[in-house]
Amino acid sequence: MLAKRVPTILPPLTLDEAIQTTKVHSVTGVLEDSRGLIPTRPFRAPHHTISDAGLIGGGTIPRPGEVSLAHNGVLFLDELPEFQRSALEVLRQPLEDGLVTISRAITSLTFPARFTLAAAMNPCPCGYFNDPTRECRCTPTQIQRYVQKISGPLLDRIDIHIDVPAVRYKELRGAAPREGSAELRARVMRARQRQLERFRGEKMYSNAQMPSRLIRKVCEIDADSEKLLETAITRLGLSARAHDRILKVARTIADLGDSERIAAKHLSEAVQYRTLDRTYWT
Ligand SMILES: [Zn+2]
Repeated sequence: MLAKRVPTILPPLTLDEAIQTTKVHSVTGVLEDSRGLIPTRPFRAPHHTISDAGLIGGGTIPRPGEVSLAHNGVLFLDELPEFQRSALEVLRQPLEDGLVTISRAITSLTFPARFTLAAAMNPCPCGYFNDPTRECRCTPTQIQRYVQKISGPLLDRIDIHIDVPAVRYKELRGAAPREGSAELRARVMRARQRQLERFRGEKMYSNAQMPSRLIRKVCEIDADSEKLLETAITRLGLSARAHDRILKVARTIADLGDSERIAAKHLSEAVQYRTLDRTYWT
């Protein structure tokens, strides 16, 4: 439900992004209206039975897959552990580089594939692990086998992990939304504007695209935050990649809060989003 609402808060495409996205869709022949540019960010939600070639791209004459059709938009993978392990592992390249290379004997082709990955999974095969009202019937081995379908290196490339406990009926009916999509979108657009100004002259649009050299410059933190980050990295045994990702997420949280500098609260929130490292990999 949450993932399906993501498109309602995405910032509009810049002209440059619209051109790139339209090109990919045009190559694949899935363009609905061949006359104009694609006006909104793509939201792709392929089923877990999709082939590797369908997801990543491929075929005798290589065509872009879902990762490229989601370029500049969102790729939503529901029931993540149900996808072919081979396909999930190939996601690592686009998540890291924003492109995907398809190699064939005679040629190799590279397609753009810079997307926001949103994925959902159950805590265990039956879905009730840690549920306050229902009993989980899975064995520890079953649970471990299930969550380990998502490899450490893939998890490492996912910035935000959130545990979403079941909501009771009363809470579902009672709570009024604190911030609607329109307000949230306005906040997202302000944050994105900030980032466009920050990266003026660089070939990027958002914090997520920052290379390491820029992280040091743009994601300055104070001594307290430095200490917090060091403790988190040591205690959770996080990689250098996770370290960079935490800083980028903290920068984005600060941007969403209209804050010029990254405060300790922004950094600690970013650290909290590494739940799965904590649960399964340490
Ligand atoms: Zn279970």
